[in-house]
Amino acid sequence: MNKMNAVVSYGKNDFCIAEVEIPVPTDDEVLCRIKSVAICGSDPGLFSGHYASMGWPPSYPFIFGHEWTGEVIKTGKRVTSLRPGDRVAGEAHSGCGICRNCREGNYNLCLNYGNLLKGHRHYGFLVNGAYAQYGVFTAKSCTKIPDNVSYDDAALCDSAGTALQAVRLADIRQGETIAIYGPGPIGNLAMQIARTKGAHVIVIGRGARLEACLADGAHEVIDYEKHEPLERLAQLTGGMGADAVIECAGTDTAIYNSVMSARKNGRVVLVSMPKNKDLVMPVNTIVCNQIHVTGSRANPNCCPEILKLLAEGRIKTEHLITHRFPMTEMAEALDIFSKRKDGAVKVIVHP
Ligand SMILES: [Zn+2]
Ligand SMILES: [Zn+2]
Repeated sequence: MNKMNAVVSYGKNDFCIAEVEIPVPTDDEVLCRIKSVAICGSDPGLFSGHYASMGWPPSYPFIFGHEWTGEVIKTGKRVTSLRPGDRVAGEAHSGCGICRNCREGNYNLCLNYGNLLKGHRHYGFLVNGAYAQYGVFTAKSCTKIPDNVSYDDAALCDSAGTALQAVRLADIRQGETIAIYGPGPIGNLAMQIARTKGAHVIVIGRGARLEACLADGAHEVIDYEKHEPLERLAQLTGGMGADAVIECAGTDTAIYNSVMSARKNGRVVLVSMPKNKDLVMPVNTIVCNQIHVTGSRANPNCCPEILKLLAEGRIKTEHLITHRFPMTEMAEALDIFSKRKDGAVKVIVHP
């Protein structure tokens, strides 16, 4: 018994369930039985070959999927932190561990990115990921899940970690007003996490996702179809603007407005990858108002804190996980997710 089923991609928009070899862990890796995988906002683009120019994936056949949880089945001989039977949540990025950025804890920015020989891994992008019954992962990219957190909820670690990284970089202090553009999974989670830091949170967006943010604890929401968001935000902040702004919407307008929403000397954290590479930014405002604009990438060192917040019930998932599918229905799951059919927010796949 050394075969498993996986969603194998053979080219752009060309994937099916296929039988492949179960991978074997090396000394620092663990073999896991995958329990839940959350479809990421980047997955539809990965399956369709949209990121081929970035080397994602480097070649075919390839197995995507990086927002996973599972059970440790076997450990490599240098692994001491995990044992068979442990329930774990994975991370997409696993750094080389020795470059300057890794040593500083910023393994999301590993200087040996893509260098497998030096130990770097980017699961589901550069090396095989989790849309499979089993996978091997470095032990350091796995974090034990508390007993009272389900495999499905813990599969939100990647998204919630991305939100936490943005909240950390926004340097939120108690009582501050935080504006969040985009009420999708990352925006909703950033709102919930910003609340745990004692912030007053305003989310800007529209539709059912905005309603969900209100239900999940946003202090105020601004529906941009009903109000001009900058005017409304000025009203809500006494003309000051927000102390910090987190941009998770990805549209040109939202990115521009995120800078315009910050108070003088305020902070702006950009999470979205804009589709428009020639985006216009209000540089005069950035300079004259001394706005601190920061990019935020991925989620280094976030899993333990996210799992704690999930265990304490301080991150709610019921409005975020809207659909669940067996892996055999991967095409349907991707379709529902990418077209946001039937109110889909996060879609979980069970291998
Ligand atoms: Zn992801
Ligand atoms: Zn590194």
